Amino acid sequence: MTGFNKVTVTLKVTVTLIVLTSCAPAVYGVSPTAVFAGETAAPQEVQLDAPPTPEPFRLTLPTPGAEPVSGWRPPLYPVPWALSPYDHFYFVRPIAADEVNWPLPDYRYGGIFFAGNIVHTGVDIDAPQGTPVYAAGPGTVVWADWGLFSETPGNQSDPYGLAVAIRHDFGYQGQQLYTVYAHMSKITTVVGQHLNTGDQLGLVGSTGATTGPHLHFEVRYPNNSFHDTYNPELWIAPPEGWGVLVGRLTDNKNKTLQQLEVFVKSETTNEMRVIKTYGGGGAINHDPYYDENLVLGDLPAGVYRLTLRFDDKDQQTWVEIFPGQVTYFTFKGTDGFDTTRPPAPKLDFLPTAIPTDTPAP
Ligand SMILES: [Zn+2]
Repeated sequence: MTGFNKVTVTLKVTVTLIVLTSCAPAVYGVSPTAVFAGETAAPQEVQLDAPPTPEPFRLTLPTPGAEPVSGWRPPLYPVPWALSPYDHFYFVRPIAADEVNWPLPDYRYGGIFFAGNIVHTGVDIDAPQGTPVYAAGPGTVVWADWGLFSETPGNQSDPYGLAVAIRHDFGYQGQQLYTVYAHMSKITTVVGQHLNTGDQLGLVGSTGATTGPHLHFEVRYPNNSFHDTYNPELWIAPPEGWGVLVGRLTDNKNKTLQQLEVFVKSETTNEMRVIKTYGGGGAINHDPYYDENLVLGDLPAGVYRLTLRFDDKDQQTWVEIFPGQVTYFTFKGTDGFDTTRPPAPKLDFLPTAIPTDTPAP
């Protein structure tokens, strides 16, 4: 946010911040990914960074890359990382830390396109054209071509562009795990090749439905399908000393609150992040234990104040983020916040602590 001036922004002032490159809705009506609708409102008087002096509106894409949000990030916990039997941080980041040394950007899982009801089925990681893309875990390449979405090899109008899919050597709850890497400028692997964690598989690009160079990353199970994605922020190991906030937010009738803004403010640094709950649409899935509709990773350990607006009232609570762990909360309409974890699932749910090899289907 270099060059921004500090100003006081009061209730319901919409602040549009950096325009990040992202996946874009495709003209033919489907895309893996969402366009981020900009940053948002303050529920009360807070210090926000003001936007820079507006530049003339440009129709030309792609947009400039994002400014780093943080200049330094600790190394990741070793994978597989799981301090609770319900967690499954099995993957590393597919872009090297010395290339993109800041938290995952705001094009998150479950976001909604400007138009239509198409949700984002992965996370977008901004990186310059040509940045190496690495395997997030060991496995066998099962797709390396255009046409992943349409399942039509060579289809250059496919929204995923040049994409790679890996079937991993380990599974989850006895089911097959896959990761997907989309929009690349070049693929440097072939179907059938076995990759180890960190092996290069391609280069960042902007092929397919995008507004600029970035990597679209997905986690899928049990099938390598657009309809079987899960939030990658629950699968990528957090940086050491940092944790992950997971929430389930519903109305009084247990109906999920969609696209609800939640303000997450560090009580230590006063830094505030805004996140929206998942949008609707059938393409997203919820973790079998958390049944979440909000995930915010890359939070340094500490106390945070959560604020949201429900029924025309600001609702607040405090949560503590612990190193390498998930902090869970629920919000249920006028009952408000609760930090009780979900009850233990029945025994057959429990995954093995260490991912085990599962035979390829
Ligand atoms: Zn995307």
